[in-house]
Amino acid sequence: MAPVNAMDFLPWAWMLIQDRLQSVFNLYAPYGPAALGGALLFTVLFYVDARRKRGRRMSIAGFFKSIFPARIVWHPSSRLDVRLWVANTLVFTSAYGVFAIGSLLWRNATLTLMTSVFGPHEPSLWPLWTILTIATLLELLAYEFGYWISHYLFHAIPALWEFHKVHHSAEVLTTLTEMRTHPVEIIFFANAIFLCTGTVFGVLTYLFGPGVHPFTLLNANIVLMLFIVTIGHLRHSHMWIAFTGLAGRLFQSPAHHQIHHSDQPRHFNKNLGFALSVWDWLFGTLYVPEKFERITFGVGTEHVRFDTVLRSFALPFSYSANHLVKWAGGLKARLRKSGSAIAPPARASEG
Ligand SMILES: [Zn+2]
Ligand SMILES: [Zn+2]
Repeated sequence: MAPVNAMDFLPWAWMLIQDRLQSVFNLYAPYGPAALGGALLFTVLFYVDARRKRGRRMSIAGFFKSIFPARIVWHPSSRLDVRLWVANTLVFTSAYGVFAIGSLLWRNATLTLMTSVFGPHEPSLWPLWTILTIATLLELLAYEFGYWISHYLFHAIPALWEFHKVHHSAEVLTTLTEMRTHPVEIIFFANAIFLCTGTVFGVLTYLFGPGVHPFTLLNANIVLMLFIVTIGHLRHSHMWIAFTGLAGRLFQSPAHHQIHHSDQPRHFNKNLGFALSVWDWLFGTLYVPEKFERITFGVGTEHVRFDTVLRSFALPFSYSANHLVKWAGGLKARLRKSGSAIAPPARASEG
């Protein structure tokens, strides 16, 4: 609780900041040492591989120049990424949490519903490894579906695209671009993912009992965490690491997501998944990066509008409201038209 006394304010604020920093940089966090260390390792491997293929000399200075080039690090787009990252991960995270319905709630609701419809169920006595494997795969698919459907809606619905455009207005990609995201999008994605994973866990709990859980690594689903601590951070980078063939149909490589950010119409609305490609494959939004493509990022001149944190957060509301007003106007006109079409014709004797 916030202190009422002004003298207590500074220690309270400092405690709050320390708390936030600890949770952002803890071992399990997306920007913690495991995930960033893994990204660095893959970056080194990428650099060594690229130099070897071209028969060029390797050096530490060359590594930093090639992986953190000044044209990207000091680009205005990257500078905005830093500010939005601070706002989204350090300042407003707790506020976003207020708007998220946790997966536990959905799990309990599903469990209650299934028990009332089908009656109580004795936990199935399947081998533990089978239950863990099923839970791991289903949680992963549910997480990915929540992510895919949210991402699809933010591309397909103009009023939502206005919010997602903040992310796509990035002209260069760095690991911080992940959080170049509008709060409405963060809250929407979190709720959709919690709804999907919570419902799946409700069904699993009904079938296998309350102890059911997936195989984990660093406190999270093992497949998701393996993705995060290896190539997860390279999705937003200039490093072309591509999964092709069947691997490209199952998993999202950094090149998949770079294609997603491309400003070329042939790439629009493709590769909407996070770690998996399977939902993209199923719904026809997959674009496997079979061969290297030189791509540029962004959405035309939209980045000009989103040049500060305040404008990035505030403007999408007004653009989105314009779409809603237009849509409501169109709906009203259609209803009026269909209303007059089904109204009985006026009789000659009337009036
Ligand atoms: Zn997108
Ligand atoms: Zn992205």
